Amino acid sequence: MIRSVRDLCSAGRKLSSLVAIVVAALMGNTVVVGQDVDPATLKGIGGKWYVSSAEPATYYYKDGARYLDLFSYHSKDSNKDGISNVIIHHDGTSLIVDSQGYPNHPTAIFPNSGNPNQILVQKFQFRFPLEPKLSDRITRLPMGPIGMASNGVVFFNPFEAGGMNAVEGYSEVWLDSCCGHPQQHGVYHYHKYPVCVKSPFRDDGKQHSPVIGLAFDGFPVYGPYEGDGVFARDLAGEQALDVCNGHSDPERGYHYHVTPGRFPYVIGGYHGEIEPANFRGPQRLGYGAIEDNSSGESRLPQVIASVTPGNAVAGKKHQLVIQLDPTKASRRPVPDGQPDWVQIGPFEATNIARDGNRITCDVDIPADVAVGVLMDCHIEFPNDGRRMVFKANEIFRVTVDSDP
Ligand SMILES: [Zn+2]
Ligand SMILES: [Zn+2]
Repeated sequence: MIRSVRDLCSAGRKLSSLVAIVVAALMGNTVVVGQDVDPATLKGIGGKWYVSSAEPATYYYKDGARYLDLFSYHSKDSNKDGISNVIIHHDGTSLIVDSQGYPNHPTAIFPNSGNPNQILVQKFQFRFPLEPKLSDRITRLPMGPIGMASNGVVFFNPFEAGGMNAVEGYSEVWLDSCCGHPQQHGVYHYHKYPVCVKSPFRDDGKQHSPVIGLAFDGFPVYGPYEGDGVFARDLAGEQALDVCNGHSDPERGYHYHVTPGRFPYVIGGYHGEIEPANFRGPQRLGYGAIEDNSSGESRLPQVIASVTPGNAVAGKKHQLVIQLDPTKASRRPVPDGQPDWVQIGPFEATNIARDGNRITCDVDIPADVAVGVLMDCHIEFPNDGRRMVFKANEIFRVTVDSDP
């Protein structure tokens, strides 16, 4: 079942291009997903949250002037078990999300040479305060889930078990090119900006990014952009991000941003009052922001020397050349033969061929992809026994927007 998740996911991905309004068949119903909802038809349930009057209710988040249907696309049943990936309801104080924590985008096949675990369906229930409140002190991030992307997959802090930075430095771990991997209980999770999570609004880098998830204090997590070509991580002065990766503006109130390439990548602590129901067991959370402890060079074998061209146009098909450097392999050599899977960000490559150390493949880049964000590439060899995987970080981006 797990081996086929990727195929199911990618089939789902191709179904849907959420640029403005698309009609998607979800859970047997026809659901309209998009930005042109008439606010007069919505009912406020608290804070920036609204529901439609239709049954089943669609939940909207008021993101600046826009009403975002954050969850309809992600409600589909990616693993075909008869249960939607996410099911949303609410009570007087909270948005309540039942989530299978299951990626609905292409992933690496796990286990592989970079990770011994497999991706398993989860039974999460999370509560997000409808009206998040700032706290006078920062709550320290626990290990395990710290928040949820809008597809129901959880965010973890930047550290692996053992407490070292999972994203950079000598302690870097193998994340697939959608920036996730499963831990020992099969929980697939993101340690950095998940470029593969679909938002109802495209992130073309020309305005403030849309919401991509929620932290466990109820404050929203936005994509990387603050404005036209400006990453939130690069802001200075009053608008600079705080140690939690958050800041405020009049339209959005307090909110977090992901910071590609810069610690803490997703959030650095909770600036809001946390919802205790999200922290299982007798965990006692400390106070204060987390600090980067990365150092040195990554010990992941840098077998992928280059991807050319390194940038591409949205809405077009491109042929890419991936140059391998087998001398960079560590204990195990690069297999002979060709990889059976090549993925760049969310794009699964087709027509994969290998000639010596040169791999060619095609990627079909959808029009609604995040523009300007550096993406990772990973390749997989079937191998005998455990699949061999290699990756290169931040090696490709879609720089040029498609024609309007
Ligand atoms: Zn991890
Ligand atoms: Zn912002």
